Amino acid sequence: MQNAPQDQSEGAAVFDCQSCGACCAYSRDWPRFSLESEDDIARIPAEFVNDAVGCMLSIDNRCTALSGTLGEHVACRVYDVRPIVCRDCQPGDEECLIARRHFGFPV
Ligand code: SF4
Ligand code: SF4
Repeated sequence: MQNAPQDQSEGAAVFDCQSCGACCAYSRDWPRFSLESEDDIARIPAEFVNDAVGCMLSIDNRCTALSGTLGEHVACRVYDVRPIVCRDCQPGDEECLIARRHFGFPV
């Protein structure tokens, strides 16, 4: 999840991640570590990490670091140290739209 709303291409919707959260609750396989160093992962509070699988810990496909209510107001509890995949996801990109459609949010 990104943070601040971003303008999309002309004519497209503008999504506010802080009132969405869909990509953080779409799949337990999504917030997976990739090129993070051991130090990077160590900075994430251990309670939110699934060490055995190498990803963030999810319950019912929702990342445990996500606080709030989907589609209303959400926040990432580990925003400053979140995984690379979370930094890469951009509002309006393919993964974003898949996740938003899954929850019936406008795309
Ligand atoms: S699904 Fe898209 S709009 Fe929603 S939090 Fe993720 S990147 Fe932001
Ligand atoms: S670490 Fe933060 S941004 Fe990444 S999936 Fe979990 S709640 Fe979302």
